[in-house]
Amino acid sequence: MYLSELPTVHIAGGGLAGSECAYQLARRGIDVQLYEMRPNVQTDVHKTGYLAELVCSNSLKSTSIDNASGVLKEEMRILDSLILKVADETRVPAGTALAVDRERFARKITEILENNKHIQLIRKEVTTVDDGIWVIATGPLTSASLSETIKKLTGAEHLYFFDAVSPIIYAESIDMGKVMKGNRYQEGEGDYLNCLMNEEEYTHFWEELINAECVPIKAFETDLLFERCKPIEEIAKTGKDAMRFGPLRPTGLIDPHTGKMPYAAVQLRAENKAKTMYNMVGFQTRLKWGEQRRVFRLIPGLESASFARYGVMHRNTFINSPRCLDRFLRSRAAPNVWFAGQITGVEGYVESAATGLYVALNLINVLEGKEPYPLPDETMMGSLVRYITTPNVSFQPMYANFGILPPVSVKNKWKRRHLLATRAIEHMRKWKEEYLKR
Ligand SMILES: Cc1cc2nc3c(=O)[nH]c(=O)nc-3n(C[C@H](O)[C@H](O)[C@H](O)COP(=O)(O)OP(=O)(O)OC[C@H]3O[C@@H](n4cnc5c(N)ncnc54)[C@H](O)[C@@H]3O)c2cc1C
Repeated sequence: MYLSELPTVHIAGGGLAGSECAYQLARRGIDVQLYEMRPNVQTDVHKTGYLAELVCSNSLKSTSIDNASGVLKEEMRILDSLILKVADETRVPAGTALAVDRERFARKITEILENNKHIQLIRKEVTTVDDGIWVIATGPLTSASLSETIKKLTGAEHLYFFDAVSPIIYAESIDMGKVMKGNRYQEGEGDYLNCLMNEEEYTHFWEELINAECVPIKAFETDLLFERCKPIEEIAKTGKDAMRFGPLRPTGLIDPHTGKMPYAAVQLRAENKAKTMYNMVGFQTRLKWGEQRRVFRLIPGLESASFARYGVMHRNTFINSPRCLDRFLRSRAAPNVWFAGQITGVEGYVESAATGLYVALNLINVLEGKEPYPLPDETMMGSLVRYITTPNVSFQPMYANFGILPPVSVKNKWKRRHLLATRAIEHMRKWKEEYLKR
């Protein structure tokens, strides 16, 4: 089929994901209509009319491959990411972090896309999608009318408007000698790890928790938060025993050292099949990250806890991707509609752009009548996509981290990470050589 015969791709949202996706399609000769509602319709956090505006920090995190975000960036460079190319060009000094001059960064991306003959930039809010090819990349602040359309596509119960994420801890950093494996009332296979507390440990933890520093609530978030579930520190503030009758209830557990029910218990649930990460059950929180590290390490067994992701509660529109999308980020209910960016349940500037890139590569194959080629699980990008499309009892957004990669058995943490990183990059190079012909 000649390129000119391929259908036009419509992309809703010119943020990090939509811009990357549009660029990758256009550079392969595919016509794109890119819809961005700003500056005509603004969101609560964007300030300009530029595409790919960074709404908060100007940092795209670390470039070191000892860091999971650095590995993801390296993989994206292999795939010629626009976002990273422009970030490198507009970089400002910030050690190993890739920080950018936000104005130059967004302006440059806007100019590149505006001047691409295959891209038609349309400044308009998308409210519905037709039966053409669509990529929805409207981000955490998707407009209300499009959210209604998405709800019809996914089912209302599969579209969420805020994150209430509990921290996730690397299994290797949990003191397995201190925690007790088992479910309440010894039912089932013993999926949980239980951190048992006596009264003294509980009281100390409670006192530190109620006095810990939280992230301030932004004005546009006040109505949304606390609607469905309360942060752990808010539960704690209602009274000393409140947590013991809530997420820290000890019922159904027996402390093997005393033969009695413990005073309180924190439960950890495996976050992935390989059990490399554990989720702190019921610990959604607005504590600052440093405070989470300090206070949650007071829990017996978590003294050296290393966090794969910290808890957050903030405004965020995202879909239940494990239920709604296939592994290529295509809607199961409407295969002409694809999703990219934060709305798929990835979190972060780079992660959002990465899914935009991934969707573009998959779309090209589909438009040419081929099946897309899944990315190897060993790559950070492949693992991130696998994570957000794999059934999960409490699906919550995820950023790049080493815990999502298939594990290797090397004891030393830094050697292990280095091995995981080099393996990921090697697999991405091979994948590109084998499958990415243009
Ligand atoms: C307040 C806040 C702060 C954040 N801070 C950080 C941070 O510091 N670091 C970090 O890594 N991540 C941060 N994130 C998370 C995330 O990385 C960013 O939101 C990122 O921009 C997501 O990329 P995206 O492409 O999915 O969405 P966006 O970059 O938000 O792009 C979506 C675009 O779609 C447009 N749009 C929305 N609805 C429609 C519609 N119906 N029709 C047409 N256009 C539409 C929007 O105007 C926007 O330009 C933050 C998120 C929020 C909400």
